[in-house]
Amino acid sequence: MLAPLLYHQGEPLGVEEVDLDPPKEGEVLVRMVASGVCHSCLHAADGTWAGVPTPMVLGDEGAGVVEAIGPAVRSVAPGDHVVLSWAPSCGACRYCVTGRPQLCERRPPPYHLADGTTRLRWRGQPVYHYGYVASFGPMSVVPESCVVPISRAMPLEKAALIGCSVMTGAGAVLNTARVPAGASLAVFGAGGIGLNAIQGGELVGAWPIIAVDTVDSKLEFARGFGASHVVNGQREDPVAAIQQRTGRGADYTVVAVGHAGAMRQAYDATAPGGTCVVIGIPPSGTTLALEAHTIAAREKRLVGSLYGSASVKADFPRMVELYLSGKLKIDQLITHRYGIDGVNEAFRALAAGEVARGLIVF
Ligand SMILES: [Zn+2]
Ligand SMILES: [Zn+2]
Repeated sequence: MLAPLLYHQGEPLGVEEVDLDPPKEGEVLVRMVASGVCHSCLHAADGTWAGVPTPMVLGDEGAGVVEAIGPAVRSVAPGDHVVLSWAPSCGACRYCVTGRPQLCERRPPPYHLADGTTRLRWRGQPVYHYGYVASFGPMSVVPESCVVPISRAMPLEKAALIGCSVMTGAGAVLNTARVPAGASLAVFGAGGIGLNAIQGGELVGAWPIIAVDTVDSKLEFARGFGASHVVNGQREDPVAAIQQRTGRGADYTVVAVGHAGAMRQAYDATAPGGTCVVIGIPPSGTTLALEAHTIAAREKRLVGSLYGSASVKADFPRMVELYLSGKLKIDQLITHRYGIDGVNEAFRALAAGEVARGLIVF
């Protein structure tokens, strides 16, 4: 198959003829319909995240149709419509059995399938699977736990975004923080994930919802997703602005950028007794300095959120229901569409802050 290939970190991708082996035991072959272009893939491609092996097929946010199943696969059958999850889970470890599969202790090795090999090859050498699902290719072989069947009423192009940005952003508000109606919410970063945290706040009736970013066009998107106030952090001090608009700081702050400076600002802008939820993943080695006395003296909570604390088998269909009922916006997230030869342009536009979400359509 023709797929965009990352030859080396920091270099442009190229479309290459890549071989795909059939699914082995516990694996599923999916024909991809669409794949979102995510910041984590951009970081893997541009080298912000060090140590990503190459060559690799990127993509962690896809949806498609099951084409074939390997031996012992029971939860899906050929023809099923599925959203892909980048967090395989064993179903049996301590975290899986206590409803936190995003922290599963028995994942396949990163960028590989469970037997420690890959199903992709280029010129005879193994090609690694980004996020286990490698959704930038038109076909992919993935672990069974990474495919989540959904209603056929759901357009698969839209469903793709549920697999990462929708679940990560909305889940941070709905699952991790469990923001109640009427609580104030500030979201730092109005990219694909931040916009979904904002609409998570709108879904639960948070008020006010304050979006912070440094790009005016992204703040305009934020208004469309439910932000009642916007703050451009380049022109205004976000901590002072949030304190002024809420009177005491925000009850909940969400950090949807991988930047320690934004984490510090969000923590400082969190009200006494409030919760600061960190979604963004900064480059490894980054440290975060906080005014230590405020943790106890103001009862502040600083919590991490991975994949929106989702149980994907339950939460992906929940997001589908919200979309089909008109409560969850996905159409408005997709501002740009590309073919497989458009990945470099998609990354450029993403880095420049020109898109809410770019989508590769097969
Ligand atoms: Zn992603
Ligand atoms: Zn597990």
